[in-house]
Amino acid sequence: SRVGYAVVGLGHLALEEVLPALSSCEKSKLTALVSGSPEKMKKVAAQYGIKPESCYSYETYDQLKNNQEVDVIYIILPNALHKEYVVRGAKAGKHILCEKPMAVSSKECKEMIAACNAAKVKLMVAYRIQYQPHNRKLRELLQNKTFGAPKLIEASNSQSSANPAHWRHKKTLAGGGALPDIGLYCLNTNRFILGEEPTEVFAYQYSTPGNPLFTEVEELMSWQMRFPSGVIASCATDYNVHESRRYRVLCEKGWLNMDKAYAYKGQKLSTARAEGKMERQEEIGLSETNQFAAEMDHFSDCILKNKRPFTPGEEGLQDHILMEAIYESARTGKPVKLTHKVTQPLRG
Ligand code: NAD
Repeated sequence: SRVGYAVVGLGHLALEEVLPALSSCEKSKLTALVSGSPEKMKKVAAQYGIKPESCYSYETYDQLKNNQEVDVIYIILPNALHKEYVVRGAKAGKHILCEKPMAVSSKECKEMIAACNAAKVKLMVAYRIQYQPHNRKLRELLQNKTFGAPKLIEASNSQSSANPAHWRHKKTLAGGGALPDIGLYCLNTNRFILGEEPTEVFAYQYSTPGNPLFTEVEELMSWQMRFPSGVIASCATDYNVHESRRYRVLCEKGWLNMDKAYAYKGQKLSTARAEGKMERQEEIGLSETNQFAAEMDHFSDCILKNKRPFTPGEEGLQDHILMEAIYESARTGKPVKLTHKVTQPLRG
């Protein structure tokens, strides 16, 4: 039978992506809702066939403990609320899927991991790109050295935002600006495709003076990461440019390019290979699958088979440690070495 999910927070991501994706899952199904808005929840519950007794407010959230149809709590709230709801969810004895960024600090991530360990429940961070077929294929080509050793990566994830009143532009709710929200995809996907951890970062930060969007959080972060193999990754993110989400990996004998790399759909993977003085370009066509469904079915499979998730809490913690180093470098104008011990393997 399918694993039951309680979705917490009925904002854009939940309503537009996660709930529709749950309907197409093989191993997962929606069984409960948690929201601060009774009217909205009533409408959503009717649409997805959720009974009134499986609808909870933030105050009655802890009563999920007694709902036998709920195996997983999926947290889709503003970043600064993740920790509280993960810890309370773990105490209710449920497995936890938590949206990215995992929290607003590495300290919070450690508390979340400890709470889930203490409650003997699984914790997974929703890094959907790690379940997306084109990105997985690129990782495989890279790790098999199909194009020789990788040397350089250029990655950027940018978009334009408009509403300074939104929680994404409030430091206490978001934790930061473009970096933890969308730059995180460059950071996390680079680590995923290379399968190694950065040893040093160097960063520049910028916000347009006087722009009300950026009085609390940064507009732009541009940073480099140095990896043990010698690979240097140049990454950038901006909240104030036309949408662009792409990366390219330059290898000894060719390159791999991913357009729409971090988008919900439309990934395009192309490669070039040196053949003497010529080059041969190729597009690697793969069928589109719903990333959100793949991600949730992965977690459900881990629960059914008692396996460690591919993107456990430790994976989120590592990104927060790296983001803290990136902010420190931007602030001090100096490269920052990563000296912490990484728990290996990060991925299950
Ligand atoms: P959103 O603003 O559309 O939704 C947030 C929801 O939280 C709203 O329904 C809001 O009412 C509710 N909420 C509860 N308490 C709140 C409070 N104190 N202040 C503000 N809102 C409160 O945001 P979203 O885009 O759905 O993002 C939610 C989470 O999902 C974030 O952590 C975000 O980073 C993540 N996200 C992930 C992806 C992805 O592709 N994996 C995409 C978008 C968002």
